[in-house]
Amino acid sequence: MDTTAQVAVIGAGAAGLAAAWRLAGHTAAITVLEAASSPGGNCTALDVRLPGHAPCSIDVGVSDFNAATFTRLVDLLAQLGVAAAPIAQDAAFVDDDGQTRLSSRDGVWTGDAAIVAEIQRFSQTCTQPGAMPPGAGWSLARFCRSHGFDPAFVRTYLGPRARGCFAMPGGDVGAFELPALVAFWRAHGLVGRSTPPPRMAVVGGMSRWCEAMQRALALRGAQVRCDTIVVALERTHRGVVLTTRGPGGITVARFDHVVLAVPPRAAAALVGFDRALQRAVLDVPTQRAEVVVHTDARVMPRDRARWGAYNYVVTDRALAGPSMTFYPKRLRRLADDAPDVFVTLGPDRALDPGRVLARRWFDHPCATAAHAAAAVRLSTMQGRHGLWWCGSHLRAPFLHEHAIESGEAAAQAVLDRLAQREAPRSIAASA
Ligand SMILES: Cc1cc2nc3c(=O)[nH]c(=O)nc-3n(C[C@H](O)[C@H](O)[C@H](O)COP(=O)(O)OP(=O)(O)OC[C@H]3O[C@@H](n4cnc5c(N)ncnc54)[C@H](O)[C@@H]3O)c2cc1C
Repeated sequence: MDTTAQVAVIGAGAAGLAAAWRLAGHTAAITVLEAASSPGGNCTALDVRLPGHAPCSIDVGVSDFNAATFTRLVDLLAQLGVAAAPIAQDAAFVDDDGQTRLSSRDGVWTGDAAIVAEIQRFSQTCTQPGAMPPGAGWSLARFCRSHGFDPAFVRTYLGPRARGCFAMPGGDVGAFELPALVAFWRAHGLVGRSTPPPRMAVVGGMSRWCEAMQRALALRGAQVRCDTIVVALERTHRGVVLTTRGPGGITVARFDHVVLAVPPRAAAALVGFDRALQRAVLDVPTQRAEVVVHTDARVMPRDRARWGAYNYVVTDRALAGPSMTFYPKRLRRLADDAPDVFVTLGPDRALDPGRVLARRWFDHPCATAAHAAAAVRLSTMQGRHGLWWCGSHLRAPFLHEHAIESGEAAAQAVLDRLAQREAPRSIAASA
């Protein structure tokens, strides 16, 4: 193993941190370069301080996981000594007048009994072996038609839930590709299990594990440099040269290998020198969406007793994109004196500007058939120019777990490449 190799990881989201953790201790120098002021990427939090309420930290991105699917994350949390706790999974399906058409509280559904029965039937049917034979193009509408699902169930429950998970681009819910949605819901335990695993969150917010990882990496000699954006990447005969803009100004440094753990759009901006590679990155389909942290309760059910941890939009309006609202106080079971703050992804209506606390934009991958082909194409380019690829956008369904897995896999590929380089030298030395 070449222990003098210099390796950079661009992006300190779950994928980049997992890659750095796998590399740390094996090569001489690991440098993680992160544009934001703290590590975590989509594991990001907002500290909220409102008069008359206890201060609290609100997740503005990743909110939950479960121990059945997220085994790598659970392992990392154990290594880092970071605690997690079950969250509330209550959901509300709210129409344009604020009326709750359907809701669940502590696992008990309230609403039209026929729709509730359809939820159970869908959960079992969609996960049965052979339910959606490959190659047949199973849209949500086609599957529901062929299994005779009640249109009221599709309008009130299935469509809003599908629109709320961001796996599909906006538009006609009936055209959504159902196998990808089912894979996503299965990973979260929402379909196919009679006793789903409890959904969990890191105590204090999902960004906590990323902060703990930053400290653990420092103990292993790796640097995580935040507020440092990689503005240019150049391939030279001596390696990869990165230009960064950070607190100390512009810096130029050379690396033997670079792991790109950034969303496709950001990665594509750096690899313009290889048009085929840039095309392959841009072919990974994503959609841009907004997340708004606010106190405008008009997005919630009128009946406060029905406020869910997850709130979905029931409407016949043509929505520009996916939409849903988290209610972190309920989701994370925060104390009574925590404020009523809402996190709306892709707001479906104008929010009161005076009640908006923060806005951010994110790129979410779309789990269409085009994605599967693009991810395969990009994975065949691993290691080209000393560049390695990872991120949840490479593995549908787009979970935190898959970001970690892909980061670990990219790091292992770098280590394998370094070991291959070392092997001939070791043989020569012993001859
Ligand atoms: C709103 C939202 C909610 C989600 N909720 C969940 C959930 O509850 N459970 C779940 O499993 N998954 C959830 N996901 C999916 C989850 O975000 C991903 O699975 C995973 O966290 C993405 O990790 P990543 O490391 O691939 O990318 P990211 O988290 O996007 O990290 C990429 C990092 O690269 C940095 N970066 C970009 N460009 C540069 C540059 N030029 N130089 C330096 N740094 C750069 C960014 O600042 C960022 O920190 C959610 C996603 C979103 C958007």
